[in-house]
Amino acid sequence: ADEKFDAVVVGAGPAGTAAAYTMAKAGLKVALIERGEFPGAKNIFGGVLYRKQLEDLIPEFWKEAPLERTIIEQRLWVLGEESAVTFGHRNYRYQNPPNCWTGLRVKFDQWFASKAEEAGAMPIYETVVTELLRQNERVVGVRTDRDEGDLAADIVIIADGVNSLLGKSLLAHREWRPDQVSLAVKEIIALPKRTIEDRFNLEPNQGCTIELIGHTHGMAGLGFLYTNQDTLSLGVGVMVNDLAKKRIKPYEVLDGMKQHPMIQQLIQGGESKEYSGHLIPEGGFDSIPPLCGDGWMICGDAAQMVNAVHREGTNLAVTSGRLAGETAILAHSKGDFSSSTLNQYDALVRSSFIHKDLKKYRGVHQLLGFGDSEMLFDKFPEALNEAAYQMLLVDGVPKKQKQKLAMRMLRDAAGGNLDLLRLGLKGWRSMN
Ligand code: FAD
Repeated sequence: ADEKFDAVVVGAGPAGTAAAYTMAKAGLKVALIERGEFPGAKNIFGGVLYRKQLEDLIPEFWKEAPLERTIIEQRLWVLGEESAVTFGHRNYRYQNPPNCWTGLRVKFDQWFASKAEEAGAMPIYETVVTELLRQNERVVGVRTDRDEGDLAADIVIIADGVNSLLGKSLLAHREWRPDQVSLAVKEIIALPKRTIEDRFNLEPNQGCTIELIGHTHGMAGLGFLYTNQDTLSLGVGVMVNDLAKKRIKPYEVLDGMKQHPMIQQLIQGGESKEYSGHLIPEGGFDSIPPLCGDGWMICGDAAQMVNAVHREGTNLAVTSGRLAGETAILAHSKGDFSSSTLNQYDALVRSSFIHKDLKKYRGVHQLLGFGDSEMLFDKFPEALNEAAYQMLLVDGVPKKQKQKLAMRMLRDAAGGNLDLLRLGLKGWRSMN
């Protein structure tokens, strides 16, 4: 009840657990609070877990962590009605050292939090933090939904995910606008291991990911199909502003994707095991809120740290959690928990890949959030598929004529020559 902690961490997702692990390892007295029955109980993601940022915390963690398959191939399919223009890269060098894996949060979060517990963090699960305790504008602890559940702390690390009520209560950010979040739904489909390996051309433990563009009813969004050991993760995330405009439910979009013949072939015979939904922060660089104040820091999804272009979120969460943890250690050694010391966290994030990558793609949010979704996610994928079909169809039409036809299709999809040029330029700029 009245126990005082050096730090309280709210949320045992990748961000909060990384923060708790870092601080506990350095000997700080840390509480890790999670509303789920256990960490990961309610969490979902695609999902791909990356090595580098987790290894910065726990060297060779993959030798004991519950991971699914080591990803050796990443594909991108631009879907037409019954076709796809496909890109991809398979490389066996991604096995050694591993680059990334598929994973399931139920297992992974639980394991990761157990590492923080081993390091000395006190787990307080099945407990909801209802508000931040403040004294003269300084955060001095948290209130939980338990009887006599106030916890005092020098520092509170807010890692409560995309719908961060605590972040909002500090006005670190406001309610996200519909163009700053997408709503994703995901289905887990069970299939025998060998069937998955045969269908994706894999050896045991090797994995493959497919990102899907198109088939989202002209809404800005991406689908995904990932291989786990004996399940496939199939999902789609669509911008909330587009969902509201079109009045289409995300599961209808997912159902539509399942009807695509190329996807159908990969999932057929599978048994649907689980269905879930979650928001994804999509606001990017311009949506990052202030990262700290007197007695608090905010990290991961709660601070919009997702690189949607590369579907990276967990690694930004882990790194921001670690950097917040390191800053707390510094503050603890100085005995100063004011923003003037905690600002170090902001500086560390700025000099990390998080800030640099999100800055590089800051224009993408503008393109997706306010661009012409119909054109980008419907007309253009269709035109690209039709152009590919025509180019490869041997029907006696001279190649030069075919080339012209293909160009016309792409130009028409964009709305004209000039628009195609503008789109290309905009796309290029948003990525640079
Ligand atoms: P979260 O993982 O959301 O964790 C927050 C935790 O806080 C939760 O455990 C929650 O229960 C707890 N909590 C919330 N409020 C309270 C409270 N008041 N009191 C106590 N506890 C609370 N990222 C990737 O890297 N690769 C992918 O392939 C990928 N695919 C994705 C696919 C989908 C469909 C989705 C939804 C996301 C995907 N992401 C992916 C993004 C990634 O999941 C997130 O960026 C990452 O989980 C953020 O971690 P976090 O710790 O900040 O937040």
